[in-house]
Amino acid sequence: MGEAKRGKAAGSRVRALAAPGAPGALTKLVVPAGVAPPSAETALRAVSIAETVRTRVRERLLHGAATGRIDRMRAAIDAACGECVALFEDALRSSLVTNLEHRVAMDRVACRRGCAFCCYVDVVVTPLEAIRLAGRARPGGVATAPHRRPCSLLADGACTVYDRRPFACRSIFSEDARACEAGYAGVGAAPIPSLAWPRFLACGYITGQIAAMDDLGLASHLVELRRALAVMDEDATALWRWLDGADVFPRQNAP
Ligand code: SF4
Repeated sequence: MGEAKRGKAAGSRVRALAAPGAPGALTKLVVPAGVAPPSAETALRAVSIAETVRTRVRERLLHGAATGRIDRMRAAIDAACGECVALFEDALRSSLVTNLEHRVAMDRVACRRGCAFCCYVDVVVTPLEAIRLAGRARPGGVATAPHRRPCSLLADGACTVYDRRPFACRSIFSEDARACEAGYAGVGAAPIPSLAWPRFLACGYITGQIAAMDDLGLASHLVELRRALAVMDEDATALWRWLDGADVFPRQNAP
């Protein structure tokens, strides 16, 4: 077995990450393609969330790296992502309690278990989210419609990592399942109508994760989930190299 398959030799230590001196305040949100610009009020809230997430994620990664152990580093990434998800779900619930408009809109949402048309598109995630899900991909997703290949984490029409699904998935709430089906079948060119506010909210968590990685000198650009998981599956040195500061994952729009 070659080095690429084996990963680093036993006894290798994870590089210690350096805490940044005084990182500048965030002024801009990372807004994935397809998310309309938020209102000024929502953007300010998301920036404030991003600063909190940035600090918490950075601290967890620093502690994980300080142990020098790759298993502890994986656990730190898992915990950092888990904390982000818990904060997001709390914020979502709180919004539904306090905002009648949001509650009414959520009641109209069409997403249901077993409906997985949205799991056949490219899913854009942070490197931390991809690393968290590494090793869970199922081999050889079969295309069920022209140009439609399932997410490698989809099985029997359901997400196999539902509790850990990335923000791109957990922040989408479709208002029209027929539009999702038409998009999947390639007969609908129109964007899928979906709730905007959960997606804005998610931008805060995504921006915070990216800022934490930037602070620590780690490659932070968004990646396409299937391709990032394939990199992690095929190359056991990928995580080590990423932690050394290498840009190991293809960019989301790379050919
Ligand atoms: S991670 Fe889960 S919810 Fe997201 S696209 Fe893949 S199977 Fe679907």
